[in-house]
Amino acid sequence: SAYSMIMGIPVPKLTMAETAANVQAVIRARQDELYHIVTLNPEIAMACQQDRELRGIIDEADLLTADGIGVVMVSRMRGNPLPERVTGCDLLFELLAAGQRNRWSFYLLGASEEANRRAAEVIAAQYSGAIVAGRQHGFFDASEDERIVADINAKQPDVLVVALGAPKAERWIHAYKHRLRASVAVGVGGSLDIVAG
Ligand code: UDP
Repeated sequence: SAYSMIMGIPVPKLTMAETAANVQAVIRARQDELYHIVTLNPEIAMACQQDRELRGIIDEADLLTADGIGVVMVSRMRGNPLPERVTGCDLLFELLAAGQRNRWSFYLLGASEEANRRAAEVIAAQYSGAIVAGRQHGFFDASEDERIVADINAKQPDVLVVALGAPKAERWIHAYKHRLRASVAVGVGGSLDIVAG
């Protein structure tokens, strides 16, 4: 099978390289619909058992990746192993490297203002071929959602990086999926803090 079942959720057996190639194909195709990637960690998979709304969001995502060695270990024990883990943080660094080569634009949504600004500076310095088209810290009120969606849409990034924590990032992306003018959106947990250093 092309999938491994993790707590009833089908996760495709993709390596990091294959995941990055998928993203590249989506960005090249310039399709209208936002491509939502969820890096599935054990906490989200667990929460899906009780939370039907969250499960619906995961089911509607365009791509799931196995975030966490626990997810990969469960698949091994079942005899239908996932090839490797693809965490939000590793995927973000992979996409920045690809963005550097392909001049992709990124919008950074989430983390503290300090970490968000610093992450944008680090990307400009270390991935100079990638473009930070816009950014917004993650401590905003729902009443600001409209302004933020409009800002993202004005910038039309190739990749919308959402570091609001899980499952807040997944809920936010899902809520605006049909309106966001970005090619790819991915929840990356606390990864902007790591990029910021
Ligand atoms: N965060 C945010 N807005 C919030 C809550 C959290 O931007 O309202 C950010 C926080 O600053 C951190 C990330 O979201 O950068 C959460 O990281 P965490 O490691 O807790 O997320 P997880 O790995 O559990 O998804």
